[in-house]
Amino acid sequence: MASIFTKIIQGEIPCYKIAEDDQFFAFLDINPNTAGHTLCVPKKEVDKIFDLDEQTYMDLMAFSRRVAIGIKKVVDCKRIGMSVVGLEVPHTHVHLIPLNAMNDVTFQTKVKLTEEEFQDIASKIRAAL
Ligand code: 5GP
Repeated sequence: MASIFTKIIQGEIPCYKIAEDDQFFAFLDINPNTAGHTLCVPKKEVDKIFDLDEQTYMDLMAFSRRVAIGIKKVVDCKRIGMSVVGLEVPHTHVHLIPLNAMNDVTFQTKVKLTEEEFQDIASKIRAAL
């Protein structure tokens, strides 16, 4: 069965899209640690990041870097943190998280954004890429 992220990539489930190329897709996390929290996902459905072939892994890092640089331009934060967890969704994804404090990377605190806030931040990041 297709993962929830494959369904997002295929447009069956809506998302706040940030970027896409032939191999990768980026969109806002629906339950963000901080505003601008973005997921970068390979279209190829592989559960664990270190099971990706080496080239896809390197290309995912390059894609994530481009997205992170865009996020940093528009979100007021000290830096963009990068994290890979995968305990909830078994489809490789890189979390890009705007950070101001250590707590922002713990996944223990979340922010609630309105539909308008999600739309606004997604369009600003897209424009910064
Ligand atoms: P992990 O698998 O790395 O533990 O966490 C999965 C992440 O995916 C979580 O931060 C969660 O909020 C996010 N997520 C789960 N389902 C959806 C969804 O349907 N849409 C979006 N945009 N994010 C999701």
